[in-house]
Amino acid sequence: MPPVVLSLTFPVADLPPPVRSVMAEFRLMVNRGIRFALEENKTARGSIPPSFRQTLMREHRVNSTHVAAALEVALTCAKGHRRLLRKGRAGHVPYCRRPFLKTSKSSFHIDPDTGKVRLSLRNGEWVSFFVPVSQHARRTLLDPKVRLKALTLTERKLSLAYEVDAPEPYVPEAAIALDTNERSLDGVLATPSSCEPVVVPFPEVKRVQQTHFERRRRLGRKKAHDRRVKRRLLGREGKREHDRVNSRLHMLTNTLVATARENRAVLVLEDLKPPQGGGRGRRQRRGLSSWPQGELHRQIRYKSALHGVPLITVNPRYTSKTCPRCGVRAERVGKVFDCAGCGWSLDRQRNAGINIYATARRETAELGGLRFDLDALAKDVVIPLYPAGSAARAREERTVREPKGTVGRGTS
Ligand SMILES: [Zn+2]
Repeated sequence: MPPVVLSLTFPVADLPPPVRSVMAEFRLMVNRGIRFALEENKTARGSIPPSFRQTLMREHRVNSTHVAAALEVALTCAKGHRRLLRKGRAGHVPYCRRPFLKTSKSSFHIDPDTGKVRLSLRNGEWVSFFVPVSQHARRTLLDPKVRLKALTLTERKLSLAYEVDAPEPYVPEAAIALDTNERSLDGVLATPSSCEPVVVPFPEVKRVQQTHFERRRRLGRKKAHDRRVKRRLLGREGKREHDRVNSRLHMLTNTLVATARENRAVLVLEDLKPPQGGGRGRRQRRGLSSWPQGELHRQIRYKSALHGVPLITVNPRYTSKTCPRCGVRAERVGKVFDCAGCGWSLDRQRNAGINIYATARRETAELGGLRFDLDALAKDVVIPLYPAGSAARAREERTVREPKGTVGRGTS
């Protein structure tokens, strides 16, 4: 299994002047590197002539590791620019405005207890500064399975990328297939002997976002005369919203992955396409872009990998328009899917979840032995895989952790 790559972030304040000067040099090297790569048409690390590296080292007075890292960033930027050029959508040549620094394992060290970061500037010259270390960060840094890979430093934050080996996923004995919606994940929990409709509700996420959207709009109007204050307040609001939404998503993805593991189930999700902006109203576009579907799937993906839970994704094409009973595809689907062919009728989201399960079952031989029972899936009683009641109010912050993997019974 390929290792899972994750990161820790730390807030940064008052960096010592030598660090800031290296960040400034790094930014300049990246910008020079981008121009060099584009003008000389260089695409690979190996094709950058040593003379250019030496020029950078000499003129920016940094070690070869920093030069190599800056060129790496520059090549990536140049690649992105070329791709846009090919598509005919390129603007100006990319240019980094803010100082930053990226470096690999050999050029830094962090002490998990004190938060002291040591950073190599030039050969034999190191500088240190402190970052606040949370309990989670300390535990992670002390974990012998964690391998630090790279450090990225900006004026605001430090982030450390690390790797953890992923266990071999188990052979599934069940499946949890879910369709991703705005307020819930809807689908099926199937074993060889049972097949039940399930739901992972998260209406509070939408509510938190709505509350913050309104508050931001109010603030924006009130502080319209003072752009500096406005920007600061809006930034703070945005961060709070982000933290609250993420905290809820973490609780529910923890529970979901734990439930899958307890049932030895494979998780089945749809392949997410980035939301399409065109052709919808402004309100709906905001709804789509602020809805953290990507974050939700990202969490489920890495947590599954860390816990050895197998995960498959299926093409979501027509999942909400197809009849799972007779296969007829509907032209238009409202809140309820009604089949013109056989009369099958079910909530649109639950119907899509069933189709995701059906697709996975068709495409994955191991799932052939699992039960597929449409009558059971059409029942009114839906099993929630995550207790929604405990986090119902948007104001409530996380106080206690939900017991892992509790499958309660209730009606939808
Ligand atoms: Zn039908």
